[in-house]
Amino acid sequence: MPGPIVHLLVQQRLATALRRSDGSQEFVKLLRGEPCSPYAGFGSMGPDFLFFSLREYGDAIGDLSNFIFEVYDTIAPIIEFVEETIEPVKTAIDDAVSALLPDELEALLADLGSTAGTLGSAMLAKLGEIVTSEVDLFYPFYPKLQQGAPEDEWYWFDFLHYRRTGRFCSTMWRMARDAGDPDLMRYCLGYASHIGTDVVGHPYVNSIVGGPYRGHWHRHKLVENWIDAWARRHYDDPASFMGCLRIGPEDVPRPNSIAGSYYSRLCEFPDKRLPDKLSELFVAAQRETYGDIPHPPDFNPDDVDAAYRLWIRWFERATSIGDALAPTPPPPPGAAAGALVTGYANEISSIWSGAGSGGGGGGGFSIWGIFAAIADFIRRVLETIVKTIEYIIDHIEDILLLPLTEALRLIRWLVYQVHLGLWQIYDEARFALVLGGYLFPDERDLAKLPWAEAFVNAGNAHMTGGPAAAFSTYPRKRQAYALLGQTEIHLVYPATLRERPSAEPCPLPHFGVYPDVMIDAHTGDPKADAFFFCEQPYPPDPSDTSPAFTHNVERDTWSGPQLGSALPFSARLISEMLDDLPNFNLDGDRGYGFLTWRLDGVGPTDPPVSPAPIESNPVNVNYGPTV
Ligand SMILES: [Zn+2]
Repeated sequence: MPGPIVHLLVQQRLATALRRSDGSQEFVKLLRGEPCSPYAGFGSMGPDFLFFSLREYGDAIGDLSNFIFEVYDTIAPIIEFVEETIEPVKTAIDDAVSALLPDELEALLADLGSTAGTLGSAMLAKLGEIVTSEVDLFYPFYPKLQQGAPEDEWYWFDFLHYRRTGRFCSTMWRMARDAGDPDLMRYCLGYASHIGTDVVGHPYVNSIVGGPYRGHWHRHKLVENWIDAWARRHYDDPASFMGCLRIGPEDVPRPNSIAGSYYSRLCEFPDKRLPDKLSELFVAAQRETYGDIPHPPDFNPDDVDAAYRLWIRWFERATSIGDALAPTPPPPPGAAAGALVTGYANEISSIWSGAGSGGGGGGGFSIWGIFAAIADFIRRVLETIVKTIEYIIDHIEDILLLPLTEALRLIRWLVYQVHLGLWQIYDEARFALVLGGYLFPDERDLAKLPWAEAFVNAGNAHMTGGPAAAFSTYPRKRQAYALLGQTEIHLVYPATLRERPSAEPCPLPHFGVYPDVMIDAHTGDPKADAFFFCEQPYPPDPSDTSPAFTHNVERDTWSGPQLGSALPFSARLISEMLDDLPNFNLDGDRGYGFLTWRLDGVGPTDPPVSPAPIESNPVNVNYGPTV
């Protein structure tokens, strides 16, 4: 799943892209008829919201979403802190320092110190949950496919990305059209754009990750988050969509960041519940499409709605909670305050002796222990805040003996140290959570190296460690890791062996470039249409070069754009194939352009095969016929 932002960017531009093709007027009219339709917007999420399927993932999604919600609950007061706590203190100092008694000033500062300390400690505690315990909250999402589990034990999230993927959408489309319901028809157009974007976008993500989602799911999520942030900054909101965001007086919109994009409103139904007709359509199409093959336990409409409600809660927080700005430094204290400043610096220096450079900002770079380094930095900043407040209170009488302007300047400067400290705690902890894959990067994170390069362009993937990503060495096997252990592994390009047989990660023109090339740069190569009709992934006889086999089509076309970029390809799927969409593997799971496939020996009529174990890969990766 390219992230929700890329899916929405494509969906927002769909009507324009469709206008360019003949025979699409029906679809253009549907989309233009209601440009803010949450059906079309949410449709573009495809099956991705089922990542929040409580019924299937149970505690795992409960733990992950609770953790993320608590993080947002911790961040929000820090953002408010500036307005609610720092500003009044500054004003009080400006207005009344001459009239303030030392006791009053002391009380004001003590209050400031304890609030800053509480907020900073809360942030550190949140970070500690993943750092000191070294729990990978993503681990339990280990895809059943990779575990070699029977398909009736899979998750629907995976199943809808792997099996009869186009047929499921075409079935919904037929049902929606027969019902004559334009809302549901718009949902299907959005869903079809998800298919187009996944087919093109996943191989791009995978080329940076080093392998497909099933083996590298945590790194996959991380890379998608960064691509989403990159794309959000790169593309402007189309004017026709601005009204759909319903920006109100309380909102703080930010044009280049996901936080403050308010994009959840593009997918929001009344009461933040799925309309019955939509959850019923979804379930009816699941039953019709998959009734005759082994599939995960049947959903009922309430299961679909429950996943949506949790998903929209997450997406709302991710796109609405803003950012705290770094404080502006005041003029430094004057010469008369020299002795006091020196005394302060001496007290603080002991806190910082032996400290590293902190986490995200740069300086020395080592991936292992990055989270521990950030936590250590935050601990020291917290101590600095406490010490700063103590210092002011201990020396209040001396400070007030200074000439008034000097006293003011010194107090303002010391209060700034507290403010700056809290902001650093916020920013470092937030960034550690971004690196963990738990939060989207902010606009300013896109300036942080090597991160901002390594996660959006395969040509730079080695910058956070591991070998250079090579077009010819794909897909890499799963990196062995567990629920507990080093939590940084997803930050490093995997140094594992290649799975066999070989496959291409993505079209060559999409390799080692930035995400806009994947999103809207290329129209497709007609020769790549052969992908639609492949019968098997690999020819049983390697000398057979027939285009009936996906790998042969890959080899013949990979120097060009193949199916084209996500937007034109999505428009083409809708205008030419909506009644009978091809059944691509939406994860680009094996390589580029693979239709759905399954492992040998697991289908009801397959002759049994003995598992041929592949090192650190529990799946016997022999690719059976398309289903
Ligand atoms: Zn998807």
